[in-house]
Amino acid sequence: MTFERIRRASATVLALLVSLLAAAMPAAASPRVGDRPTVVLAILDGCPAHSLDALPPEAYLREAAAKGRFQRVRTVFPSSTAAGHAAILTGKWPEENGVTGKEFLREDGTLGAFSSPRLLEAPTIIEQAAGAGFRTAVISGKNGVRSLLGEGADLSVSPGLVPSWVLEKVGPPPDESTQYDDFCGWYESLDRWVIDVASAFVRDAGPGALVVLNLAGPDKVGHRFGPVPAPETTHCLVSAGKALEALAAVLEGVAGDDWAVVVTADHGMTPVSRAILPSEILESAGAGDCARSLDGGVLYVWPSATEQAAAIAALKNTEGVAEVMGPSDEARMRIHATHPRSAPVIAVAGEGYMFIESAALMDYTRGSHGALLESDVVVPLIAYGPRASGVDTTSARYTVDIAGILAELLGIEK
Ligand SMILES: [Zn+2]
Repeated sequence: MTFERIRRASATVLALLVSLLAAAMPAAASPRVGDRPTVVLAILDGCPAHSLDALPPEAYLREAAAKGRFQRVRTVFPSSTAAGHAAILTGKWPEENGVTGKEFLREDGTLGAFSSPRLLEAPTIIEQAAGAGFRTAVISGKNGVRSLLGEGADLSVSPGLVPSWVLEKVGPPPDESTQYDDFCGWYESLDRWVIDVASAFVRDAGPGALVVLNLAGPDKVGHRFGPVPAPETTHCLVSAGKALEALAAVLEGVAGDDWAVVVTADHGMTPVSRAILPSEILESAGAGDCARSLDGGVLYVWPSATEQAAAIAALKNTEGVAEVMGPSDEARMRIHATHPRSAPVIAVAGEGYMFIESAALMDYTRGSHGALLESDVVVPLIAYGPRASGVDTTSARYTVDIAGILAELLGIEK
């Protein structure tokens, strides 16, 4: 027997032993490994948990929360889109998954957006589900979310990338040139389109799928008109709920009693009325040229060593700035902002204020997020559908706990 044949024979015996051992293991409590459930994760972009309480009682999201499980969980810092989505889907904090905010400083000194999967330093539940044989889809109202998380999924869709299969089955997304004719209605129709594509995918995939949705409407409408109880944002969430109700009917038709929907948010939204202008502040501190990235409640600054102290002092002296962290500040540990991509200087806005490029933009802005305010970080976690009743979601405290819940719903190891 050659060495190679001995090696192959040993590998066969080992594989046999492993499968015998696996067969002898007691089956886990329902849901079980080996089932083919269909699980949908719907991320309401920019939806604080308290929004749900203020929806009309007949709103589907409230009904789903009452029938299924509902609790509040906390998202990561900064409470922004890329960091929020990456934390949910990897189950890791920003310092562990590498997605530390909206932008980071590249080696060449330019800013890069978190829109490539190569920036993710932890596997996603989407990849893990695919590895376990599930069909996977990432359907997003935002192009950046799709490009960060959708690569490798069986279906990857956003308004900027619509495969011909989607055009045939569902049709195109709403026409971008009409976006400002009826801003709220346009985003409601975009969210409906995202959910319609999900329904088409679920029908096509059959049992055994993980579908991840980004619903951009609550964020876009919330920035423009303010969070719930603003009537426009309330209407947007009621509309998204109606579409999710229709998706539940499709899930029931395809998966019988073996499906679940998890609804959460990447971050919340807080009413805002006052601007903080980083360009003016940094310029007055002699650090006007340093790289910076702002996202509503949070400002990242990359000053040179000589500019750093003056930049920190100027930001600390600014009205509306709640907190400023330097590179070795202990507060960074608390908020998981210790990754090298997190800027050396981080400023956080207080309630009612936001970092913005120009004061004129405040005329069109009534909601903001990114900071450490409760309304920015406390988001809903709803789980409903027959499969959800077999999984304990109540121990989840943070959005990083959601990937584990999804793994349990799918019956795979996280
Ligand atoms: Zn967002």
